[in-house]
Parts: sequence; C-alpha cells; structure tokens
Amino acid sequence: MLPTEQELTTQNASSQSFALGKRYQVAMPQQNSGSITDSIIKIPSLKETVKPDESPTNTIVSTVNSQQKNNMSWQTAKVRSGDSIARIFKRLGFSAQETYAVSTAQGKDSKLLMKINVGDTLRIASNDKNKVIALEYPLSKKDTLYINLVGDKFQSHKESKTVEIRQAFAHGTISSSFWNAGTIAGLTDAQIINFANIFGWDIDFALDLRTGDSFHMIYEKKYIEGEYIGTGNILAAEFVNQNELFQAVRFTDDEYYTPDGKSMRKTFLRAPVSFKYISSNFKRKRFHPVQKRWKAHRGVDYAAKTGTPVVAAGNGKVTHSAYNKYNGHYVFIQHGNGIVTKYLHFSKRAVKKGQRVKQGQLIGKVGATGLAAGPHLHYEFLLNGVHRNPRTVKLPDAKPIAKKYKTKFTALAKKRIQALSAAKNTLFSIITKE
Ligand SMILES: [Zn+2]
Repeated sequence: MLPTEQELTTQNASSQSFALGKRYQVAMPQQNSGSITDSIIKIPSLKETVKPDESPTNTIVSTVNSQQKNNMSWQTAKVRSGDSIARIFKRLGFSAQETYAVSTAQGKDSKLLMKINVGDTLRIASNDKNKVIALEYPLSKKDTLYINLVGDKFQSHKESKTVEIRQAFAHGTISSSFWNAGTIAGLTDAQIINFANIFGWDIDFALDLRTGDSFHMIYEKKYIEGEYIGTGNILAAEFVNQNELFQAVRFTDDEYYTPDGKSMRKTFLRAPVSFKYISSNFKRKRFHPVQKRWKAHRGVDYAAKTGTPVVAAGNGKVTHSAYNKYNGHYVFIQHGNGIVTKYLHFSKRAVKKGQRVKQGQLIGKVGATGLAAGPHLHYEFLLNGVHRNPRTVKLPDAKPIAKKYKTKFTALAKKRIQALSAAKNTLFSIITKE
C-alpha cells in the first residue's frame, strides 16, 4: 500500500537532511517548489482515479469539415465587467443574428453562455465570411462547453476531463495556534476550517488547544492531466488534544465517524463560536486557568470582535431573546433532556422567543452589551438547572453508523487508519534518520 521506508528515505536523503525534533518540511524530489506540496509527503501508491460525471463523445467536433477548418481563424475574448455574450460578439464584429444562433444552440448546455463570468475566456472560430463556426468556453479546469456549427445549426455539448485523485498526508504540531500549525503544514484555509469542523463536537478549538497538540490527516489532491488543481476531501483525520486521541474517517455518505463507527456529530458543539475568530487570542489564553475562571462565574468567555457570529450549540427552542442591564442582549435556548444554553452580551440578536433553532444556526453576534468589560460571548450550559462546563460535560454517545453500512465502513476505517499510521511511521523514520 505505502512506499517503503527505504524508498522515502532514499529519495529524500539526497536532497534534505532532518534534524531531530525540528518541524519537517518533506518535499519529494519530483515536486516543484513554491507549491503547498513542499510540506507534504505524497503517497503515490494510494492513487484512485475518479471518472468524470459524464463522458460525452467527441463526434460533434469532428463534423467540422476540413474545408471549414482550413478557413477557420480563432479569436480569444476575455469577459469584461458588464459583458454579455451579445456584447462580446458585437466587439468581435459578429452580427446580432450570429449571437442569437450561437446562444440558442441545440442542447441544454448552451444556457451556460448566459452565465459568463468576468475574467473567463471564450475562444471563437469563424470562417473567411465572418461566420461563427465554433466556440469553446472553459467553464473550469475540468469542464469545457463546446458549440459547433453542424450543417446550418449550432449544437452544444460539455466535455469533462478526468480528475485524478491522489492522496496526501499532512501533519502539524501546535506551538502558537491551530491556524498557524495548519498553514505551516501546507493546508489551505478551507482545509483548516474543515478539519476543525470534523472535531467541533469533541474539541473546543477556540480555548482548549495546548502547545504540543498535534494533528495528522490524509486528504485528497486533485489533478487534471498531471496539473494540480486543488484539494479534495479530508479522508482520515486525527487530533491529539491534551494527550487525548480523536480520530475520524470519512465515509461514502460524506459524514465522519470514529473508527468504531460512531458519528462525529453530537447533540452539542463544544464551542458556539468558530475558533477562526478566536485564534488570535491563543497565546494569551494558553495558560489561562480556564477551569478556575469557569468555577468563579459558571460560564465560558470567548473574547472575540464585536460582530463575530455565535451559533446555537444544539437544536432547540428559544425561550428568551431579550435585553437587560446585566446580560445585555441575551438568548436562552431550551434543548431536550433538561439542557439549557445561555448566550450573553450580544451586540445583535438573530432569533426571537419561541423560535426553533438548529445546531450551528446563527443566533446573535458578539458584543459588549450589559455588564461586559469588552466584546465577548459569555456562554453557559445547564443540565437540570445546574451549571456544567460545556467544554467537558459528558454528552450522550453519538449515533452509530447504520447497521447495513457497518461492515463496509469498518473495512474502510481500518484501511484509512492503517494508511494514517503508516504515513506517520514513514515520517518518523525520516525525521529520526540522520
Ligand atoms: Zn463570562
């Protein structure tokens, strides 16, 4: 499944040496510098190829006969602000009739011409009589719209290039913030947020991370004709938070489960604010005696800018949405099983009393109304009227994966977790070599 240690160490020994205990940036020799791949170990043998959504035939293009081809000249038009297909055709010197004929080409895909975006490029072929013969419109790196004159009618179709999916491994150790560690590991902003979201029911990324916490993940990288076009899904993820191990594996339903098949989704999010708004406070918060502070005032404070979105930690019904001089603008939510959550000091409330809310739904924005020294969210979690620490309270086990998928998932999880640990071991052998 994985390249042997020997292969990886040999490949890298020539170009790089590694210091023990240092953050590693392992670049494979065949990869170009300047891309995010530099900090990632590629696992070449884990390739999977995904078929395009559709595989249309190319027969229409070939109906452009050789006579036409000989007299054909191509023009390229970049879509400008305020452009329409009519404007572009006019600019290129084609008649309104030509515009009409092309934009009403047979086939549903011709409608895509109505949705051109600024910066897109159209390629238009015409003959020596200034009649349009063909149009090519790359919709993305994957898809291209083709419109061709066939006889005296235009026909449209879309072609998709094959996207090759490769798997990559990334790893990081937290020294200042999860965001920084993710960036150093070569992850995109979206990947960092996605990763935190996978564990958002277990870990409070805003307040509970510590120096030395670490993450490992296997994710998809997409290529078209050998060209890297972007990242895909996170396939397996692991986070060690204060020496506690959390693991998640993506299944075919696009959901994440623990290796033993329990959904990562739980009835409550650990934090009602995304860590991305809080991470700048990480250093200051790192050694903050949170537990003591929590005991003192029975809530958790998230310092964040005024206007930062706050979401419902779980599904429920809004029992209070009001203002008083202590709480400022505040919202209380009644959940099932005797649980109530409270959110204070909003600058703005986004829900009304009696309203049903879903987990993750915006309920208000951080502010400093009421008795608040500065903008922050004061968050409380009560079970049967008793305050509990929302970040440590034991919650009921999440739903297990459906029985009919259990066997399939277990096999997949085993494979993914093995790949994850194999990648880690390979990495370890590279680091400790010298
Ligand atoms: Zn507070």
